[in-house]
Amino acid sequence: MCGIIGYIGYKEAYPFLVNGLKKLEYRGYDSSGIAVFCENKYSICKTKGSVSELEKKIFLSNTNMKGTVGIGHTRWATHGIPDDINAHPHVSNSNELIMIHNGIIENYHAIKIILLENGFTFKSETDTEVLVNLIEYIKKENKFSLEKAVRISLNEIIGAYSIAIIDKYNPETIIVAKLGSPIALGINEKEFFISSDPIPFINYTKNVLYLKDGEMAIIKKNKKLDLRKIIDNHKLNPIIEKLKINLKEIEKGKYKYFMLKEIYEQPKSILNTLRGRLLIQNKKKEIIISIDGIDSNKNVFINAKCITIIACGSSWHASLIGEYLLEKFTRIPVEVEYASEFRYRNPIIDKKDIIIVISQSGETADTLSALKLAKEKGAFVFGICNVVGSSIARNVNAGVYTHAGPEIGVASTKSFTAQITVLILLALKIGKYKSVIDKTLYKNLCRELICIPKKIYNTLKIDKHIKKISHIYYKVNNFLYLGRGINFPVALEGSLKLKEISYIHAEGYPAAEMKHGPIALVDEKTPIVIIAIKDRYYEKIIANIQEIKARKGKIIAIINEEDIQIRMLVDHVIKIPKISEELSPLITIIPLQLLAYQIADICGKNVDKPRNLAKSVTVE
Ligand code: GLU
Repeated sequence: MCGIIGYIGYKEAYPFLVNGLKKLEYRGYDSSGIAVFCENKYSICKTKGSVSELEKKIFLSNTNMKGTVGIGHTRWATHGIPDDINAHPHVSNSNELIMIHNGIIENYHAIKIILLENGFTFKSETDTEVLVNLIEYIKKENKFSLEKAVRISLNEIIGAYSIAIIDKYNPETIIVAKLGSPIALGINEKEFFISSDPIPFINYTKNVLYLKDGEMAIIKKNKKLDLRKIIDNHKLNPIIEKLKINLKEIEKGKYKYFMLKEIYEQPKSILNTLRGRLLIQNKKKEIIISIDGIDSNKNVFINAKCITIIACGSSWHASLIGEYLLEKFTRIPVEVEYASEFRYRNPIIDKKDIIIVISQSGETADTLSALKLAKEKGAFVFGICNVVGSSIARNVNAGVYTHAGPEIGVASTKSFTAQITVLILLALKIGKYKSVIDKTLYKNLCRELICIPKKIYNTLKIDKHIKKISHIYYKVNNFLYLGRGINFPVALEGSLKLKEISYIHAEGYPAAEMKHGPIALVDEKTPIVIIAIKDRYYEKIIANIQEIKARKGKIIAIINEEDIQIRMLVDHVIKIPKISEELSPLITIIPLQLLAYQIADICGKNVDKPRNLAKSVTVE
């Protein structure tokens, strides 16, 4: 979880480390720390809180951060509260080994007992301090090199990690290793950058090596990188790729927060998702959907007995929308599962089943483990990820990238709509293969898809109006979000956005289900956001609105522009362009994202870095 950073080269390490940590903060953090090495000495500073607080502490304490080698960490606590002591880097008992770690060492307790019996002591409550001391123990007992001690220790542990470790007596070497949590190495002729993702070093190099699970790299100043397999020390050939991220994509530009920028980017990100996939064939004016991962596995999809979609968080909501679309267009039964639940209940998987895994980062630990389990059981696994080259992308049988561009705001927005776009393409394509989708419906929806970016662009103009509504309701304690059919998952996603960034309690519910419980919450103080577009549930939704009004609830309704009936019944309306029911989530979610954003901003919350949350959840 969160971030690791490192530098070894000829320049001062500290500026890169501190700025790099700031760029990694979006991944979620509760404390941070840096260690810089100079000859056989090192300086270390750690603190609870943000990287700016760390910077302040270093400045006020006059800590000397001079040196051309260093490591840094943003922590998302798993073992021990977020405080200065539990913050990383952690130092071994002899003060010789200094280490940072993202992830969890699951068998840390058993190892700790052995180390305690052997005279080791611990300052922190972390699993990380146990690992750095295990490495020290194995190194000293056997007189091993650091490299060998790291390898032997990592083969003893169960869990997930990305680590970087330095021996203070040999600060010309950093050893990094990965299992489950990501590490990217930026490589220049005379310097190496270490990071959880390439964003911090994009300004310095375009050469990147993504470490794979079970690999470790021995990085020495002025030497070629030595890549090894942790299990057997087998030497590997490093495959260095060229980074393709555009700098503008990871800057806020004129926007106050990344989340707002990403909401506004959706016309473009959806265009990018569709690019090269929704093609108009010139001669017959026929629309073709082209997705390599499906085209090359046509029979697998045609013969699928059942599809299970596995995801977490917002991706899970997108999956529910996918369930609706896939069942409707392909007539294949679909189940949607939380990755963390799926794994632990011995799921029944047939060789003819397709498992679709969805994750923005492609590093979500629970989803990755579910994927591995599904593959072990012989299923064909198809991935939908945003981050190119991520662990999930590398582990699936086939897949499709959403191409939404880097998403920095912790609350996902453009990756959610990009996932839905991919699911629409997928459902239409498989439906066509199986000849179960009505030809006219297929053609109309494809045509309408092309117009979606423009429709989102027009929908975004309601931002000012939403801000006014937000000023009325930002002080309330509870919100209710209602929707029906394909817009029920949108209500879930809308309520999640509000919870995540404003910390106001919100619940999403199927509108008709409200009378089986949540209606008890309705009073004159409760705002109810209700998706009430003109689809086949329209009359039913009007009845639900009447039920709420009879109990004096305040209603904010998302309606179609031409609707006059609902406008008369509710307190506020937010108008969106007319759209087919099947594609409507791509538009109905936009006002809900904006509403959450505006309320959180008025409440003065740090929208991009909500408390306790991490962008990519790389722990189970
Ligand atoms: N498990 C470690 C800790 O609690 C690392 C957590 C992280 O990934 O930041 O300190």
